[in-house]
Amino acid sequence: MGRADLSVPLEVHIHTALYREYPDISSVVHVHPEEAVLLSVCDLPLLPIFGAYDPLALRVAEDGIALYDRSILVSDEVIGSEFAAAMAGRPACVMRGHGITTTGSSPEEASLNAVKLAELAQMNYRARLVGTPRPLPHDEREHFAGGDPSRWPDHVRSAWRYYCAKVGEAASSEDVWAVTPLKVDRPPPDPDAHPS
Ligand SMILES: [Zn+2]
Repeated sequence: MGRADLSVPLEVHIHTALYREYPDISSVVHVHPEEAVLLSVCDLPLLPIFGAYDPLALRVAEDGIALYDRSILVSDEVIGSEFAAAMAGRPACVMRGHGITTTGSSPEEASLNAVKLAELAQMNYRARLVGTPRPLPHDEREHFAGGDPSRWPDHVRSAWRYYCAKVGEAASSEDVWAVTPLKVDRPPPDPDAHPS
């Protein structure tokens, strides 16, 4: 039982459906970043347009960004199940005309995935203001995918300390991390395709 003075958010079904469908998930973040919404309503994909600028944001793109192609509230179990199916086990999802949802093996990982997905959207949006963004060539993306997977938890911890420092909070225990290394066997995405 929760506190009597608090009510359950309407879109709790985003969270409960994902926990039910994907038992490995231990945290879900749902937010409404403006640039991600703007690009979604224009059918513009979140392209992998930078590398060393922000490798963790590139990782979110490379892990595959699901699309939930409806802008309705996820306000009941049926819609929650439909949404969970659209995520298809991926750690990040753009919800057309609505926002984003990310998952992780800890609250920190899910939060960092959300921050990086929002940054990827912001950079794609800004790039389209000044020209036509060109996705990274396959070999440059492989350069990041081919890195030492054991180093990724270090990169993620470092990023989390950075964001905690920005808001004046200490980072939590490091044993919460169980970051999945970059996959190296995925096919190159079609740059003309919508994020899926
Ligand atoms: Zn929402």
